[in-house]
Amino acid sequence: MPDEYKAPLPTPTPDSKPFWEAAKRHELRIQRCVDCKQAYFYPRNACPGCLSANVEWFTASGRGKLHTFSIVYRGLKHPPLEPPYVLAMVELDEGPRLMTNLVGIEPDPARIRCDMAVVVDWADVTPEVTLPRFRPA
Ligand SMILES: [Zn+2]
Repeated sequence: MPDEYKAPLPTPTPDSKPFWEAAKRHELRIQRCVDCKQAYFYPRNACPGCLSANVEWFTASGRGKLHTFSIVYRGLKHPPLEPPYVLAMVELDEGPRLMTNLVGIEPDPARIRCDMAVVVDWADVTPEVTLPRFRPA
């Protein structure tokens, strides 16, 4: 199965490497500002709220809600990610939003609802890369 994964993969940067390393352990690690307490995503070395460089990593709950979504019916085929699939923006309980896929539910607009509770669902797509996806909680 891992050999069959043909979709684009992330290229960790110095800022995002801790995120991807934690993902391999199935831990959703994000950052927060020590000074103003704002949690944020994507990874970066300064707080987007107050620009402080006094930031830290922590393990998020892995829970959130579906902020918005789009069902992809046509597009490039990257096995095993083939249309139709759900491109989703999830708002974590800690506040930040992240772009991901919604899995574990039919890609049907009659079934998927904004604000539905979701939980992280890890996909070990290659020996090196694990992607956070979300499924209905
Ligand atoms: Zn801050």
